[in-house]
Amino acid sequence: PRASSTYAHGRVPSAAAAKAIASVESAYGASIEVLRGIVNSMMQEMRKGLAKENGAAMKMIISHVSNLPTGKEKGRFLALDLGGSNFRVLLLTLDGHGQCKSESDKYVLTQELMTGTGESLFDFIAESVQGFLESRGITETLPLGFTFSFPVQQESINSGKLIRWTKGFHASGVEGQDVGRLLNEAFARKGIKVNVAAIVNDTVGTQIARCLDDQNCYVGLILGTGSNTCYLEDVTAIPKWTGPAPKTGKVIINMEWGAFDDEIQRLPYTPHDRTMDAASINRGQQLFEKMISGMYLGEISRLVAVELAESGQLFQGTLTSKFREVQAFKTAMMSEIESDDTVDLSLTRDLLHREFGLPLNKITIDDRMIIKRICELVSTRAARIAAAGIVAVATKIAKTHDCTVAVDGTLFQRYPNFEHRLTAAVAELLPGISTKIHFKRSEDGSGKGAALVAALAQTQ
Ligand code: BGC
Ligand code: MG
Repeated sequence: PRASSTYAHGRVPSAAAAKAIASVESAYGASIEVLRGIVNSMMQEMRKGLAKENGAAMKMIISHVSNLPTGKEKGRFLALDLGGSNFRVLLLTLDGHGQCKSESDKYVLTQELMTGTGESLFDFIAESVQGFLESRGITETLPLGFTFSFPVQQESINSGKLIRWTKGFHASGVEGQDVGRLLNEAFARKGIKVNVAAIVNDTVGTQIARCLDDQNCYVGLILGTGSNTCYLEDVTAIPKWTGPAPKTGKVIINMEWGAFDDEIQRLPYTPHDRTMDAASINRGQQLFEKMISGMYLGEISRLVAVELAESGQLFQGTLTSKFREVQAFKTAMMSEIESDDTVDLSLTRDLLHREFGLPLNKITIDDRMIIKRICELVSTRAARIAAAGIVAVATKIAKTHDCTVAVDGTLFQRYPNFEHRLTAAVAELLPGISTKIHFKRSEDGSGKGAALVAALAQTQ
C-alpha cells in the first residue's frame, strides 16, 4: 500500500499504466518474508566471517580499533579521503575537549586516475598532499589518517592489503598490496614527510566521529556511492582473533557487507539486477552493495524503464540513444524525480527531456507517474534491504539498551525519504524494539573520524 499523494496530487494512472506499475511493484516489493530471510543469512554470514577457518565472502575485517575516543585527543592531524567521487585532503585540529576544527581541499578524481596505474593514483595523492601542505606553510611531520574506503585486510592499524577494488575503481597493481606501504612510497618519491598513522575504513571513521558525543554508538553505516557497515564486537565472539586481547575487550569489525551473497545468491534479484551486474566493472562481486547503493540504483531503474519502453508501456515505445546508455540515469536524478511535487510532474518531464532528449510531447502524465514509481520502488527496496542488514547487526550484538547507528553517505543524507523508509522497515522487522535503534547522521567520518583514529593509534 502506498500513499496516493506520491502520485502527482492524487492523480490516478490509467489502467494500462497501473498494470505496468503493478508488474514493477511485484518484482521490487521486498516483502517482510524476504527481509527476514536476509536477516537470518546475514547473521549466519557474520558468524562465518568471524570464524577461524573461513572462506567467507563477507570478510568481517578486524579494524584494529579497540579504543573509543574520549574527547581528550589532541593535536594536529592530516586525513585523506579516498573512495567516493572526490578525493579530499584535510587538516584537523583536535582541541582535547572533544572539539575539532577542520579545513580541506577537494580534488576531482578522473576516470583515468581511478582505472590507470596504482603508481599514478598514489602519485596524485602524494602531490595533492604536497600542494596542501605547501599552501598552508606546514613543515612539521603530522600524523595522518588515511580513509581508504575499500576492503583492506588490515594487518595492523596502519598496514593492510587491498582485497579488491570496488565502486568503479580499478587501478592496476594495488590489489593484494599493502596500501600503507604504497602511500609511504609515494610520499617518499615526492620527498614529503608524513606519518601514516592509520588506515581507516569510512564506516569506522563514521562510527568513531559520532562516538564522541554518543555513548551508545555501536554501529557505523555508509549508504553512499557504495555501502558497508561496521560495529563494535566483543573479542570473545571472534574465533579468528589471534594474540592478546585488547584492554577494552572489544574491537570494531568492518563487515564489508557489500560482498554479502557474492557466492550463494539469496537476494531477491531481478533480471535488471543481473543485467546491471553483467555490465559492471566488477561482475559477480559486491552483489548486496549493488542492490542498495547510489552507484547502482539509477542503472537498475533505467533498465526497468527500458524494458517497459521496449514493450510499448512507456514513452509510447520511443527511446533515445542517450536513455539506452549504460549508467546514463543517475541516482541523483531519482532524487530529483522523487522530490517532484508539481501537480503534473512537470519537473520529471523536464528532466527526462533535458537529460535524455526525450521529446516533451512523448512524455505523458502516465509516463511520469510510472518513472516516479520506478524510482520509489527501487530506492525503497534498497532501504528495506539495508534495514534488514542493520537488524542482523543489532540482533547479533543484542544490546538491551539504545543503539545508535552513525550514518553517512549521499544516499542517506540526500535521497528524499530514504531515512524514513529505512526506519519504517526496521520497525516492521522489530516490532516493539525498533525504537531502540537510532539512525544518526555523522557527517565528518572521513575527516574527524580518521583524525581520531590516528590519535587513538598513537596511544593504543
Ligand atoms: C567498500 C567499503 C566501503 C563502502 C562505502 C564499499 O564498496 O568495499 O570498504 O566502506 O564501499 O564507501
Ligand atoms: Mg565518503
